[in-house]
Amino acid sequence: MLDEKLEPIYADVLRRNPGEDEFHQAVREVLDSLGAVIAKHPIYAEGALIERLCEPERQIIFRVPWVDDQNRVQINRGFRVQFNSALGPYKGGIRFHPSVLLGTIKFLGFEQTFKNALTGMPIGGGKGGSDFDPKGRSENEIMRFCQSFMTELGRHIGEHTDVPAGDIGVGQRELGYMFGQYKRITNRYESGVLTGKGLNWGGSRVRTEATGYGAVYFVDCMLRTRGQSFDGKRVVVSGAGNVAIYTMQKVASLGGRIIACSDSEGYIVEENGIDLELLKEVKERRRGRVSDYAKLRGSGVIFKPNGRVWDVPADIAMPSATQNELTGQDARTLVKNGVIAVGEGANMPCTPEAVRAFLDAKVLFGPGKAANAGGVATSALEMQQNASRDSWSFETTEKRLSEIMHGIHDRCAQTADEYGAPGNYVLGANIAGFMRVAEAVRALGVI
Ligand code: GLU
Repeated sequence: MLDEKLEPIYADVLRRNPGEDEFHQAVREVLDSLGAVIAKHPIYAEGALIERLCEPERQIIFRVPWVDDQNRVQINRGFRVQFNSALGPYKGGIRFHPSVLLGTIKFLGFEQTFKNALTGMPIGGGKGGSDFDPKGRSENEIMRFCQSFMTELGRHIGEHTDVPAGDIGVGQRELGYMFGQYKRITNRYESGVLTGKGLNWGGSRVRTEATGYGAVYFVDCMLRTRGQSFDGKRVVVSGAGNVAIYTMQKVASLGGRIIACSDSEGYIVEENGIDLELLKEVKERRRGRVSDYAKLRGSGVIFKPNGRVWDVPADIAMPSATQNELTGQDARTLVKNGVIAVGEGANMPCTPEAVRAFLDAKVLFGPGKAANAGGVATSALEMQQNASRDSWSFETTEKRLSEIMHGIHDRCAQTADEYGAPGNYVLGANIAGFMRVAEAVRALGVI
């Protein structure tokens, strides 16, 4: 039940953003946590503060024309939602996926605003993307698309304005093409305009690993509150992209066993633990599928083209693929099989019903806006290095990431305690993130 002061705010969000289910879901989840805040501090219910946080500062939609290898003109749609800049320049990734709609980018931008606030760093929230499908496209098509996308996006971003990065379908290769085009249009070597760059053109060490590593640090912190660790645990990860791979790598280094992972075509199960070097070779260098891994690996691994990766019994689950990939039914299966902790590596991978099932069962649950904040936090470290024209060692950068993740964990845990819900990281993350943005918005006046 939503607080009666929040009910009309949510009704307005539904009315004014029709059909944007994912955005509704993300807003609803935060509003569900805010009843306790406005009861304690009524000032936050004034000045249309919460309404302002639900309304993006700016939403940009543009046409992206490009020519494919058959010389046909293709049209995609590009988006950048500049959600909130009270804490710093808009910051958040770009997603290329055929499912991308305005509502997708709005949900991601909304989440990003609170996630970025939770890191404690000076970054606002934004998100961008396109319904372009990179699957099956040649290197040249990818480049032409990225150049066309940046030709339009370029006028809206800048190191002090809006700093995009990668997300699903956008990695170092795509960022390279986008950075190249931005540099060409502006005639400026403005390193700080994008993050997730390659190491020899302004990138930061640890950025590639950061989201996965950070998610594991976060879950490790949660486990320690119950005197547990990753050591000897069975871990199931969904996805096999950047977040999933570095999640698996860090889990393995802490003594956990990676039993299963997945991609959009199915999942693999390997009781003795997945060979991460081979998986990296297949996914990162050959741009292959988990089924290719299974073929190369031979015996001991099973590839399942159908079914749910969450049916594989696990002590710890790390959903690291995409939104709403873990349903209420999946959560009940995991609980029945004895899961003790869940860390969201992706953005909003668990449905509201799944989150409820985990919280009811007292499973340690790390919501994405806290658990996967290591990626964007390291992007902020990349911005710091770019601003000072410096480059830090792996050790220095990883130490900063680890401190930031511990800080986020403790902030969420303390806030949950303060609001009488110890161990509820969803409440803790939503309230702590909200408070930081809300304070800044209030201080800056009616903007
Ligand atoms: N796309 C990532 C996220 O969801 C990273 C954003 C960034 O580094 O700006 O947080």
